Amino acid sequence: MERFHILVGDITHSDAEAVVNAANTSLLGGSGVDGAIHRAAGPQLLEACRRLNGCETGQAKITPGFRLKARYVIHTPGPIWQGGGLGEPALLASCYRSCLELAAAYGIQSVDFPSISTGIYAYPLPQAATVALRAIMSFLAQHDLPRRVGMVCHTEAAAAIYRQTFNLWYAEEKSDRL
Ligand code: ADP
Repeated sequence: MERFHILVGDITHSDAEAVVNAANTSLLGGSGVDGAIHRAAGPQLLEACRRLNGCETGQAKITPGFRLKARYVIHTPGPIWQGGGLGEPALLASCYRSCLELAAAYGIQSVDFPSISTGIYAYPLPQAATVALRAIMSFLAQHDLPRRVGMVCHTEAAAAIYRQTFNLWYAEEKSDRL
């Protein structure tokens, strides 16, 4: 599927029109990718986030990208992994869907995602990758925008898991069509 790409790198260097921030519910910055995005975007991002009054887990809110190359930042708080029985998969899927809905509503052509919840929030990477890919691919199958979606993995090891998960998804899709 040419509209979807798996990349390795630092999402703050993304060329996409919007980058997603794996935020927390306060939207007031944090560690990991959240800290990196706030540092790269500059202090105006925090000012803009203060006006948003937080965000619920699984939902998304949008700000300008300020000093980032990206025109927009879409902030989404992922679920904290607590064993998987507390609705974490549905909440994680909702993060991806909410970001993509917001992107489509803003007419955004390209969006790069980090691997939401798989750092401090401890969501196991293979399970998170399965949820992420299913949510993204089913959204893309039903919408023209965004035209391009990237999954920006911070490490080659994480990208390998996403690629493997993508290949499994693709094989399943093909066998469903037979
Ligand atoms: P969460 O709190 O949602 O778990 P983290 O920021 O701790 O968020 O981690 C989410 C993922 O983002 C992790 O897989 C981590 O390796 C990755 N990550 C951290 N910094 C960056 C970055 N600059 N660019 C892309 N991915 C990043």
